[in-house]
Amino acid sequence: MPTPRGKVEIAQDQCKGCAVCVDACPPKVLKLTTVLNVQGYHPVQYLGDGCTGCGICFYACPEPGAITVYKWQDEESKKQKAA
Ligand code: SF4
Ligand code: SF4
Repeated sequence: MPTPRGKVEIAQDQCKGCAVCVDACPPKVLKLTTVLNVQGYHPVQYLGDGCTGCGICFYACPEPGAITVYKWQDEESKKQKAA
């Protein structure tokens, strides 16, 4: 598992369970759940570790607003600018 350099948040009720992001994620840190969301789909969840913040899942996802990606490097840059 690569060093975490970011994280991803899934708005599970926006997800249609198409698994495009699961296949697109290079470190394979996304998986489909077995629960149903309000739309009747099995939404994706983040395994909680290993996200690089690359953003590939965000660009691959057909549902606007389903995925938010955070890059730790950006957060560190902001902290450095604020300091
Ligand atoms: S940002 Fe990249 S590493 Fe993180 S979950 Fe999305 S595709 Fe995977
Ligand atoms: S690509 Fe988007 S809609 Fe499809 S499973 Fe991933 S988060 Fe859900």
